[in-house]
Order: sequence, then C-alpha cells, then structure tokens
Amino acid sequence: MAKSKVYFTNFRSQNNISLLEKLEKLVKSAGIEKINFQNKFVAIKIHFGEIGNVAYLRPNYAKTIVDLIKENGGRPFLTDCNTLYVGKRRNGLDHIETAYENGFNPFSTGCHVIIADGLKGTDEAIIPINGKHVKMAKIGRAISDADVFISLSHFKGHEFVGFGGALKNIGMGCGSRAGKMEMHSSGQPFVAHSVCVGCGKCVENCRFGAISLDEKSTIDHTKCVGCGRCIRFCPNNAVMMVMDEANDILNEKIAEYAYAVVKDKPHFHINFVMDVSPCCDCYPYNDVPIVPDVGMFASFDPVALDMACVDMVNKQPILQNSILGENTCMGNHFMSVHPDTNWQACFEHAVKIGLGNQEYELVEIE
Ligand code: SF4
Ligand code: SF4
Repeated sequence: MAKSKVYFTNFRSQNNISLLEKLEKLVKSAGIEKINFQNKFVAIKIHFGEIGNVAYLRPNYAKTIVDLIKENGGRPFLTDCNTLYVGKRRNGLDHIETAYENGFNPFSTGCHVIIADGLKGTDEAIIPINGKHVKMAKIGRAISDADVFISLSHFKGHEFVGFGGALKNIGMGCGSRAGKMEMHSSGQPFVAHSVCVGCGKCVENCRFGAISLDEKSTIDHTKCVGCGRCIRFCPNNAVMMVMDEANDILNEKIAEYAYAVVKDKPHFHINFVMDVSPCCDCYPYNDVPIVPDVGMFASFDPVALDMACVDMVNKQPILQNSILGENTCMGNHFMSVHPDTNWQACFEHAVKIGLGNQEYELVEIE
C-alpha cells in the first residue's frame, strides 16, 4: 500500500503570519478543497472540553475550518456526543451549555453546535460493519446524517488508550451512549447500592423491563440490552459502567467505530499537537504538558495522521516539570505516562480493517 500523505506545519509564527492563516494553508495544501462541500451538511467533530479544563482546542481554530467550508458552499456544524460518565457533557442541554461556556457559539465559530446523539444520548444511527468485535455500531444520529465528516482533534495523553488523537475523537467520540458502553465494556451497567436511594426512576425508564426495585434497584443482565437510558435517568448517578474491557479489545473497538463513522462519506482529519496534557480533556482540570507544543497536522488518512503525531511527540524532549519528568522515559512518551495502555493495537486493527495506513510521508508546510 502506498504511503499516506500527512501535512504538517509548526507553531512558529514568522513574517507576520498568524497560526490561523497557517492552519488554512495547511488544510488547503493537504487537499481539503477536493471534497465537494456544495450544499452538504458537514459534521466537524470536536471535543468542547469539560468545564475547568483549559487544554481543549480554542474555538478560533474551528472558525478557520468553518469559514473555509462555507466559502466552498458547505453547511458546517460543530458536534460531539454525550459522555458516559458524570460531568457537564452528559446530556444534550448540559453539553451545549458547556460548549458555549468554553467559547463555542455561533458568534465565535460561525456555526451552530449540535449534540449528535440528542438530549439523552439515545438518538443514534445503527451502522452495520460486521467487525471482529462490533457488528452494529451505534453512532450519534447527526454525525451519521451528515454528508461530510471532519475531525478536529486535540492530540494529548489518554488514561485508557495512551493518547487521544483522530481515531479516539472519531471512534469513541462519535459513539452514542450505547456505543460508548459497547466499546468500554461488555455493555451492561450495574447499580451501586451504596448510592441508590430507591427512587425507581431507572425502573420507569428501562424499556426492556430489566430493572427491579426492592429498596434498591438491581439490573437483570439477561434482559438488559445495554441502551444506557438508566444511566441518564438516575438522579443520583448510581447507575454505572464497569470499564472492564481489555485494553487491546477497547483499542480495536475504537478502530471499528471510527471505521463505521467514516466508511460511507468523504472525510478529512486535523490534529493539533499542543498543550499535550497527560490525560483527556474530559477531566475538569489539566496537568502540565509532557512535551513542548509541536504543530498542526492534516490528512485524509486518520491512521497515518495519528501515527505521524505519535512519532513527532516521541521525538520531543520531555518537560521536566511534567508528570513525565518524574517517570522513566522509554522513548514512548504516552506509554511512559500510561503503562497499562497499548495504542499500537488500535493502529494495527485500523490497518487490518482498511481504515488507513501506518506508513506515511510527512510533507512540511511553511
Ligand atoms: S442499559 Fe437499557 S436495557 Fe439495560 S437496564 Fe439500563 S435502561 Fe434497561
Ligand atoms: S434511578 Fe438511581 S437512585 Fe433511583 S432507583 Fe434507580 S439506581 Fe437507584
């Protein structure tokens, strides 16, 4: 297979050129305008950041891409799916308010925010892929309905999968609540009896009669289909997921979900290797970056794109005031931070299922 091209520009700002102008030049050089945007709905998948986290991507970068898509006749919107865990992005209303609070609104970005899997994380499209682990991927409806898919990823560490780049942004990020459950575990929640107050809300809202109540509620896993509604409806956050999937399987499922998202539509991917914090932007805080800011990368191939970013991060000196300064460095910065992860499994599986190529040619843009 021929090497995929990955375009790169650093964060140096010389000759009075702004980083936003550099971003525009980067994506144009990488060929984004080859996509037919005319009258097309364009989903731009981005992480809006948890409240308290300040490492997420600035809205300004999104606006540059939004403006370019509009100039090319497209109808872009910024999007993400609701989370599984407790936080400020767990339902459509909280999520959109978080996006606004973190600066993503029509005035700053030039387009609307749509939470792809709706108010309660149940608005999903079922995409048949017949993968090794995933037969029917559950993708946020608005992302599935879009004609074109663009990924804007903040490239940083991740506690479950080593790092979060394009594949994580697409695969895990575009899964509905049931989709995320399927990736993280065997897909069935449990009730923490120490937190449950026996209000019965989960029982009322389980369409499959899988929950019984006897002072505390209990889920019958022979009836539960893993839809995740009970997680959303519990006012006390007593319904929880076991994040029990083996790391390699989790990585392979993410690859299969990413494949499901992009398989039938034009797609393009941009990674920002900056503020490379050790953990995900889902936390309401962020630690000191582990390496210096590197630059922006763009490609039609999300696998090659992430590979190029990992390689570039691993070439960077570690920042001694970061968590990595305290750890032994094995030449694999993300595994040094998260030794129990194996991101390579995601790449290998992604190549196997035809999502992309690990081999790349890096093209540097001034
Ligand atoms: S995940 Fe869905 S099917 Fe399972 S107990 Fe909760 S609401 Fe019922
Ligand atoms: S909704 Fe939550 S608190 Fe209420 S019975 Fe169900 S698990 Fe318990």
